[in-house]
Amino acid sequence: MAGRKIFTGPDDRRIKRALCVVAHPDDIEFYCGGTVLKMTARGVIVDFVLATSGDKGARDVAKSRAKVARLREREQEAAAYVMGVKRLAFLRHPDAELIEGLELREEFVREIRATKPDVLLTFDPNVGYRYHPDHRVVGRVALDAAWPCARDPLNYPKAGAPHETKEAWCFAGQQPGVTAPGWKGSTRST
Ligand SMILES: [Zn+2]
Repeated sequence: MAGRKIFTGPDDRRIKRALCVVAHPDDIEFYCGGTVLKMTARGVIVDFVLATSGDKGARDVAKSRAKVARLREREQEAAAYVMGVKRLAFLRHPDAELIEGLELREEFVREIRATKPDVLLTFDPNVGYRYHPDHRVVGRVALDAAWPCARDPLNYPKAGAPHETKEAWCFAGQQPGVTAPGWKGSTRST
């Protein structure tokens, strides 16, 4: 973005709010848990949005999907508590069935406008051939939701007041694009 110095990393004092948009319970802990902790430790408000509740995240077919989802949500809430995160939104789409669509984009726009992040953390959608399809979809749709949709008022006028997120930090990419002392992030887009 012209005229603005990009954030130096999670210790940047200009960051007051961040939003993690992911596919499944455990994605945040795998891919950006340390970054979240670095921010919440200095008082940044971090919110989580989960597109699914990981209802197929079990190899035991005796467990129902509803039961697995409840368990995964409780695990995510416990992890959020440990990381100092108070607001979680479970959108409860079926696991492994996410597709790029305007409905999901609107839901992400609503969450972005409600939480007003300075930084959006989500998946790098530009990856190799083997990738969880939900991760690819969430990365693409979350970035599209932030720019231009959440920013521009004629998009989804009933989904809250416009908000422009300053940056996205994309994780799980093939080539980490940002390295800072004490922090290894990933591809950044502004
Ligand atoms: Zn996942």
